[in-house]
Amino acid sequence: MANGTTQAMIIVLKTSATEQQVADVVRRIEEAGLRPHLSRGEFRTIIGAIGDETRMQPDRFVGLPGVDNVTPIMKPYKLASREFHAANTCIEIMGRKVGGTALTVIAGPCAVESREQLFETARIVKKAGATMLRGGAYKPRTSPYSFQGLGSEGLQYLKEVREEFGLPIVTEVMDTRDVEAIAAVADVLQIGARNTQNYRLLTEVGQARKPVLLKRGPAVTVKELLMAAEYIMAEGNHDVILCERGVRTFDDSVRNMPDLAAVANLKIESHLPVVFDPSHGTGRRDLVAPLSMAAVAVGADGLLIEVHPHPEDALSDGPQSLHPEEFYELMTRLKPLAELVGRGM
Ligand code: PEP
Ligand code: MN
Repeated sequence: MANGTTQAMIIVLKTSATEQQVADVVRRIEEAGLRPHLSRGEFRTIIGAIGDETRMQPDRFVGLPGVDNVTPIMKPYKLASREFHAANTCIEIMGRKVGGTALTVIAGPCAVESREQLFETARIVKKAGATMLRGGAYKPRTSPYSFQGLGSEGLQYLKEVREEFGLPIVTEVMDTRDVEAIAAVADVLQIGARNTQNYRLLTEVGQARKPVLLKRGPAVTVKELLMAAEYIMAEGNHDVILCERGVRTFDDSVRNMPDLAAVANLKIESHLPVVFDPSHGTGRRDLVAPLSMAAVAVGADGLLIEVHPHPEDALSDGPQSLHPEEFYELMTRLKPLAELVGRGM
């Protein structure tokens, strides 16, 4: 359903604005029944005001002491928009920065299958220089008869592997009832493509105070993805990483059609970090490397890549999972390209 009732505006303060003037503007925003969001730049302070459109009266702020200009935000997404927050959002996770100048590489198996498989993969991806380790304990499978993940046993292995290797953990949450238990172990909560528009789940992870990796569903538009991010951010959790993982089209030569235009477009429309998933994006191991390179070239802040010590034995997504040596090679090839586009690895 479309939403046309919530609105926002940004109030740019003069460089000479005093602390008292900033506080007065914030107070007036609150008195108007709106929510203020203060962002202090190097030179200027910008205050966003968000809330119901019936309460949104930009004229009441024009000409106030310390106020330079007032601009209504016309986009349906506010907190997620570049208009609201001009600088790139950089999220720090165990000392690693996502959305800054470094290229983030999230790697690991599709599913946690056993303690041995997870530890072996962690050793491989850490050695290759990955930033974070991924692996699903709860798996969204098309068939109810397919492997559904190890559940709480998988979470326990993720906890142990995190302690052993010191890599931040990215793992999927499918159900509001599991958010607390998963957030106790994970450093990043993944919302899978099947749940991009599960609004109750988005609200719940918005309250979890852990960074969220939000995947774009196969039939979700860029605008709808940003509205989904808005749901998380509206709960006060601004640490959202957007993930493009391919959309549905007529062509069955790939599992999904990677939408690299969306990667570049999201970087324009939003300040949030954007990562690309070539594994689900293509479903083909032989396409993971070329699409990874392309995504970095169009401005992705990072990649999410499935790696398995023995892909032929994988319980899910084996055909798209890289062998260890393929992952090492890809990481080696990515380095000079990352540097070319101004990113370190
Ligand atoms: C996954 O990351 O393993 C996964 C299930 O991805 P998606 O939600 O993009 O299909
Ligand atoms: Mn998978």
